[in-house]
Amino acid sequence: MASEALPPLPSQPSDPAALAQAILERLFFTVGKDTVTATDRDWLHAAAYAVRDRLVERWMETQRSYYRRDVKRVYYLSMEFLLGRLLVSGLINLGILDEARAALRRLGIELERIRDLEPDAALGNGGLGRLAACLLDGMATLGLPGYGYGIRYEYGMFYQRIENGWQVEHPENWLRYGNPWEFPRPEVLYPVRFGGRVLQFTDAAGRLCHRWVDTEEVMAMAYDTPVPGYGGRTVNNLRLWSAKASRDFDLRYFNEGDYIEAVAEKNRSENLSRVLYPSDTTEMGRELRLRQEYFFVSATLQDILYRFRKTHGDLELLPEKVAIQLNDTHPALAIPELMRILLDEHAMAWEPAWEITRATFAYTNHTLLPEALETWPVELVARLLPRHLQILYEINRRFLEEVRARFPGDEARLQRLSLVEETPPRRFRMAHLAVVGSHRVNGVSALHTGLLRREALADFEALWPGRIVNCTNGITPRRWLLQANPRLAALITERLGEGWVTDLDRLAELAPLAEDAAFRDAFRRIKQANKQDLAERIHHHLGLDVRPDTLFDVQVKRIHEYKRQLLNLLHVAALYNDLRAGIERLPRTVILAGKAAPGYRMAKLIIKLAHDIAEVIHHDPETAGRLSLVFIPNYDVSTAADIIPAAELSQQISTAGTEASGTGNMKLALNGAVTLGTLDGANIEIREAVGGDAFFAFGLDAEEAARLRRARPDPRTWLEADARLARVIDQLASGFFSPDDRGRYRPLVDALLGEDRFLVLADFTAYAAAQEAVEAAYRDPARWWAMAVRNTAAMGRFSIDRTVRDYAARIWGVEPVTPRRRPRPRTSPPPRLPR
Ligand SMILES: *Cc1c(COP(=O)(O)O)cnc(C)c1O
Repeated sequence: MASEALPPLPSQPSDPAALAQAILERLFFTVGKDTVTATDRDWLHAAAYAVRDRLVERWMETQRSYYRRDVKRVYYLSMEFLLGRLLVSGLINLGILDEARAALRRLGIELERIRDLEPDAALGNGGLGRLAACLLDGMATLGLPGYGYGIRYEYGMFYQRIENGWQVEHPENWLRYGNPWEFPRPEVLYPVRFGGRVLQFTDAAGRLCHRWVDTEEVMAMAYDTPVPGYGGRTVNNLRLWSAKASRDFDLRYFNEGDYIEAVAEKNRSENLSRVLYPSDTTEMGRELRLRQEYFFVSATLQDILYRFRKTHGDLELLPEKVAIQLNDTHPALAIPELMRILLDEHAMAWEPAWEITRATFAYTNHTLLPEALETWPVELVARLLPRHLQILYEINRRFLEEVRARFPGDEARLQRLSLVEETPPRRFRMAHLAVVGSHRVNGVSALHTGLLRREALADFEALWPGRIVNCTNGITPRRWLLQANPRLAALITERLGEGWVTDLDRLAELAPLAEDAAFRDAFRRIKQANKQDLAERIHHHLGLDVRPDTLFDVQVKRIHEYKRQLLNLLHVAALYNDLRAGIERLPRTVILAGKAAPGYRMAKLIIKLAHDIAEVIHHDPETAGRLSLVFIPNYDVSTAADIIPAAELSQQISTAGTEASGTGNMKLALNGAVTLGTLDGANIEIREAVGGDAFFAFGLDAEEAARLRRARPDPRTWLEADARLARVIDQLASGFFSPDDRGRYRPLVDALLGEDRFLVLADFTAYAAAQEAVEAAYRDPARWWAMAVRNTAAMGRFSIDRTVRDYAARIWGVEPVTPRRRPRPRTSPPPRLPR
């Protein structure tokens, strides 16, 4: 065999001397700089290449072991992956962080200095994209054959600057200096078609056939990023698609001779993967977005089927070898696309094609908010995807026939269940498509799954009991504790050994230490040091001085009315009024961070309000030092990792029944913050785990909130019952916080006094009372730090590893594959030539 003749791969040792040598070689031969001219960014890239080199062998061996064992593969399809920076997490997962630090030091470089130069890979909006990133880490850590698929946006999530208190969005060109982690695959290139029309004809066997013709074409090119699990044994793959113009453009230039126009058109087609849509809940129904979704789905399915058919001839085996998880409805067009491939390209009959499709797909629902449920105008689908339109109609026709047979004469039910919303303009309901085309649907917390079964998807539950299952979200303890909070990680390792990193349930062994004064004190001192670090960052970046001996009270997440940052701000204003009135309150530093969707006026106004209130508080000598409000700009994975380890109070105060799960709540509790939260999403499970006496719950629960909303009480009732609240609303309305524009907060006040859809006023009094309970607890250090320790100790079940096991058992039907422990030095097998 030809491959026998190849020399073995050079080994990739990772002791400091060898690593230093490797980084130097990468600096010379890949970056093209010497040590005299190298900038810090050059060093960062050289180090990243050296780390990537150490992933490649495991990466290939992982892929080979999947082939050898012919395992069932899991494909995680997500329009978003919020990865963050990759250097330190790569070093940690490879187990060579200390070696790399020492290697860089030999070269005169501090790791801590260059690591912050890496741009965040911010290919996502918030929780949904971050879940995808955590799941990749969990699958690789468990040795599960998981492949991420997504889009390589040239511009990720926008960069948020604050100008004069207002959010201003700046484009984030994260690829400007190149991306050392990715491997471009110009040969992995698939055509994706749009538009055109459908020809119908009957073949020799009398079968009705369809051909999709006269389409325009865009090419999808793959970029691969290795995804190492903790321990570095399994290295999975994340494949992101980038749009490239098809060869048609060259031809058109020849035909029409208009070179400039041909190039301009090339640009237009490559616009497809240019930018991430920066809205995390409301879909704006833009044509480019629908094109992105189909582009992504079409390329991914071609790739999955190519891989499947290399080793399998029989498409009926697909569900045995392939599980496709749809992260929300954004990739739901994969369902009609697989049908189209099976019907039109493989001449399969409808029934077996549908059976295969349903058995292959599963769908994760992320939201209950009606405005966040994706729908697409039928007219738009008809124009861009005429063949899919036919297939969608046929899926719906057969589905409604099934419903009619089960529930004869129930027209209302048919209308509720239909994939098509009939009120003009007619639209496809993507959630219905995703449920009908999947064998499993999952919610992301116990409460959320229950609400799906009982309310949002109750008709589907009645039709197919058991299809809706729960997989509560989780977070990776590698990034959110080991990496983000090295002090606390070291304390835990000192007590428990290193096992907790892959077996987070071991944290439970810390629970008895909540009663140990010396341990509590060690825990408190770590928090204090982290607070000091954050205070220095705030000083450095914002020029603000905050006192690290005050309660660090943190609410960090996307800005959205349902998350109720406004409730927090109203309370800050009330605290300010208390202090002015001579009422003693616990000194605190309220920290907010989060981005607003660029078109979301209310959310942007809430950001401005935070700055206006801060301005008043900070300039009042009576409150200076006793209360501060800090808005940290550009919340992303890296800022989250700076803020969370310093948090003492975690605010998770969404209107009950609106937050599907939350994962920020888990990150904060893991780092020893005590939650002040509503009984919403995973807060409920967190409270169950830590115990009601280590969690400040308040306010209406989901049922009460729903009932109250239906009763439509006059919001003024709440003002009459709470003078502090009435005062603050009056201040907002009269321009107390906005003397330069007294009407500025009229829209907020009108929304509160009108419908108060998110029950901010209704929950205020309970919230303020819970805040007083927080103050009392914080004044009793023995009590507070015992609560903090118990929070960390109880977070085992929120490890992403548990979440991955839930998906594997309840949905995918796969088992972990553990490849050989360590690459054998020097004698590792030569790469096989592809056949
Ligand atoms: C975890 C995380 C989120 C999700 O936060 P929630 O509080 O669950 O909404 C959003 N953005 C970033 C950058 C995160 O790390």
